[in-house]
Amino acid sequence: MHPIEIIIIIILGSAFGSFFNVCIYRLPAKKSIVFPASHCPECSVPIPIWLNIPIIGYLISKGKCKQCDSKIHWHYPLVEFITPVLFLLLYARLGISIPFFQYLILFSFGIVIFFIDAFHQIIPDSLSLPLIPIGLIFSLLPMSSISFRNSLLSAIAGFLLFFLLSWSYMKLKGQMGLGGGDIKLIAGIGAFLGIAGLIFVILVSSIIGIITIIIIRHDLKKHFSFGPFMVIASILYVLYGIRIIDLYISLFI
Ligand SMILES: [Zn+2]
Repeated sequence: MHPIEIIIIIILGSAFGSFFNVCIYRLPAKKSIVFPASHCPECSVPIPIWLNIPIIGYLISKGKCKQCDSKIHWHYPLVEFITPVLFLLLYARLGISIPFFQYLILFSFGIVIFFIDAFHQIIPDSLSLPLIPIGLIFSLLPMSSISFRNSLLSAIAGFLLFFLLSWSYMKLKGQMGLGGGDIKLIAGIGAFLGIAGLIFVILVSSIIGIITIIIIRHDLKKHFSFGPFMVIASILYVLYGIRIIDLYISLFI
């Protein structure tokens, strides 16, 4: 752990978080994520650079647009906070290494997917599909934690399993259980994490999903976003997977 590296990761992480907020707001609305520059979603007035500084800008403007007084959504400061925190946890676990950058990409896509799926019940193809080739390419690099064969087989296994589940649910109930976005996302997660990670993510996301359905008393006839749980499980696997598996085994052996 190097102090200068930590400072750089905090600054870059919050800047990335700021960009992820733009993606979370604009991708579902099919707007460009590059142009125009940041503006208030309500009154379209451009946001001055000094109010665009992650978290600090939110605090200075007291969570409101200076022009029209409309409230700034809570996901803005939250994403600007959790992004550098997750990046730091990853750095503490892996240092600056190839796997660090590999999972940095997975976490980045994951954060954006988490909020878009939670808010809009969709996972855009532009977020789920790139994970498959990126995961495969990283498995080819030296120091990769999984082999190319593992990456490829896990992507196919994840895709087929979710496709079959979705297809049989459709036959039985006449409605979509898992959406197309979930099927593409699990293939991407498989490509990044390999077969052990794939099994972990499917089990853990199902457990967290079921607990959430019970707690919020979700009506199962309505659509339920599964993407956020897959994202949480993937992050848990990368950061604490080995420890969680060890703990689980020690409960029974
Ligand atoms: Zn405004």
